[in-house]
Amino acid sequence: MAEKRDYYEVLGVAKTATDAELKSAYRKLAKKYHPDFNKDNKEAEEKFKEVNEAYEVLSDASKRQKYDQFGHAGVDPNFGAGGYGGYGGGFGGFEDFDIGDIFGSFFGGGFGGGQARRNAPTRGESIRVSLVLSFEEAAFGCTKEISVTKTEKCSECQGSGAAKGTNAETCATCHGTGTVKTTRRTPLGMISSSGVCPTCHGTGKIIKTPCGKCSGTGRERVSRKLSVNIPAGIDEGQTVSLRGEGNAGTNGGPNGDVLITVSVRPHHILTRDGTSVMCDVPITFTQAVLGAEIEVPTLDGKVKYTVPEGTQTGTVFRLRGKGVPHLHSSRRGDQFVRVNIEVPKNLSKKQKELLSEFSKAVGEEAYTERKSFFEKLKKK
Ligand SMILES: [Zn+2]
Ligand SMILES: [Zn+2]
Repeated sequence: MAEKRDYYEVLGVAKTATDAELKSAYRKLAKKYHPDFNKDNKEAEEKFKEVNEAYEVLSDASKRQKYDQFGHAGVDPNFGAGGYGGYGGGFGGFEDFDIGDIFGSFFGGGFGGGQARRNAPTRGESIRVSLVLSFEEAAFGCTKEISVTKTEKCSECQGSGAAKGTNAETCATCHGTGTVKTTRRTPLGMISSSGVCPTCHGTGKIIKTPCGKCSGTGRERVSRKLSVNIPAGIDEGQTVSLRGEGNAGTNGGPNGDVLITVSVRPHHILTRDGTSVMCDVPITFTQAVLGAEIEVPTLDGKVKYTVPEGTQTGTVFRLRGKGVPHLHSSRRGDQFVRVNIEVPKNLSKKQKELLSEFSKAVGEEAYTERKSFFEKLKKK
């Protein structure tokens, strides 16, 4: 090959060209020299390579900067080696747009466009499942059985699609590639494009005697029971995945996953915020005044807690380590217990008299909050 031309010269743009100008110049030249428009034209093929190489470098900001500074020596001298080799197969060098894009604008969108290989390995789809857990199951973790309906490799033919004792044969039309070149006459001359092989519909294989179980698809729908380990501390909306348990991949692609999204049923007394557990406990006026031992429900069952003398309503007590375990850890959050004083109602005349007597005996001195409130009020 002759000495390399300046990349800007190749694309016919100024050194100051913007990315948009580069792209536009490239598209114009790529169309002009594309091998599909220039059958057996060596010169056009060389030009096409040259244009691609120039654009590869100039469209990449860091490569362009090196090129501007050091010229051809600044960019990898082996750059593109083999990259534009097989025009028949995928275009190694095209990243920004495929051939359909280039031709699409040329033919008003009528051209087929670049198609992915039909028989490429494809990952199987993942399956989403939702699972309802009790408050305790989410907190402490559990093992659950779920059932999923999924696609698996056919057990009869092991995925080949061919009946037992027979084999799938390589398609003679496309030699197993799944695509064929078609040539058609247009006002611009002969244009060849690759399309899905009509004989094998893109699979690259011909099955003479299809498997009776899967009718030659190589896949079957099955119902499976799967065991899921739910980790302690999982919360509403979080997902556990079973890798590779989803739908089977095709053409040797990996299986999808099973994604289990959890929802948690509310508890009748406890509520949860992350690893904290909260609850409200009503106590009597006398318990608050005199102090008392109360029973508090927790994830570990009822525990006793001593409310001190003179506890105000709304006071929150913390029970360390009685909350929800942190995910994937042995640490646990805390439980917060709020006590609320319940005022007694429907008292008898006698009870009311006793309270009045009590009130007179206590006077104002025992109510410090109330006292300071009225002092503030008087200052105004
Ligand atoms: Zn089968
Ligand atoms: Zn074929």
